[in-house]
Amino acid sequence: NADTAMYHAKSAGRNNYQFFAADMNQQATERLDIERKLRHAIGRNELALVYQPQFGADNRATGVEALLRWHHPVDGMISPDRFIPIAEETGMIVEIGDWVMLTACRDMKHWIDSGLVPLRVAVNVSARQLRRRDFCETVAGALAESGLPAELLELEITESSVMENPQEAIHILERLGRMGVSLAIDDFGTGYSSLAYLKLFPIDHLKIDRSFVRDIEHDLNDRAIAFGTIALAHSLGLNVIAEGVETEDQLELLRSNGCDEVQGFLFSKPLSSAAAFAFLHAIDRQA
Ligand code: C2E
Ligand code: MG
Ligand code: MG
Ligand code: MG
Repeated sequence: NADTAMYHAKSAGRNNYQFFAADMNQQATERLDIERKLRHAIGRNELALVYQPQFGADNRATGVEALLRWHHPVDGMISPDRFIPIAEETGMIVEIGDWVMLTACRDMKHWIDSGLVPLRVAVNVSARQLRRRDFCETVAGALAESGLPAELLELEITESSVMENPQEAIHILERLGRMGVSLAIDDFGTGYSSLAYLKLFPIDHLKIDRSFVRDIEHDLNDRAIAFGTIALAHSLGLNVIAEGVETEDQLELLRSNGCDEVQGFLFSKPLSSAAAFAFLHAIDRQA
């Protein structure tokens, strides 16, 4: 009857609300928990970098991307997708990012000093870091302190972070370019970007996001976006790196359409510093 139905609807509504509130509350608690633990992560040596190699058309390694890992003694591995956004909102990304930059430069310099053929090392930079007045000095400091030549450092920046304030971004990117550092637009196609601005930025690489590579064999829209990106990049004089390449078929499609470099589990997962050196050194010797 109608009364019972009404009663059910109301109680269901109330339950939903309570459910929703409890969920929100849990999320907020979790965020605070991560935030609190992250404050100690650097000091307690819980952060580490792993390196994922990138390969050119001839299967030669062209570079590595440095990716941050957080190993909490109790909670175990915490994914960057969970803690990087919190680090950005709280501003902790600045201190963490400085550590990442210096560590990545030092590791590559150390590998080269240990006999590796010099490679580019790419570091992810968040919008918050890029906006800082002293960002260029921080980069220059990491290069000076590590002794890594500027030409071997690449900064990965997302479209959204440069589009926040394109005028200012051009200024910063041009300074970095003059220092000799190279620049990549990361996750290309997933954010808001203006092609008119893109051509003004002193960029070296466009990185095709993994989401367009995943179904490239079957999804014709993803394929059109990936191939379109390659064509666009080449006409602007930029090189293209595809990320998330997991299968031979994906590789074949991308390469036969001119994709310059690839990165993904097909070639290698991200590796610890020692494992990355061993892997890359072994390839050098084969070549
Ligand atoms: P990203 O920069 O787009 O990095 C690529 C992500 O794809 C990495 O995830 C990598 O492990 C993953 N990946 C690479 N190849 C494959 C593949 O073949 N299959 C699959 N399924 N995944 C693949 P990860 O390491 O979890 O990093 C996630 C994101 O966190 C990064 O995306 C980047 O935006 C951010 N991040 C990581 N390290 C840093 C950092 O030091 N600073 C900043 N600001 N952000 C970082
Ligand atoms: Mg990246
Ligand atoms: Mg990416
Ligand atoms: Mg991505």
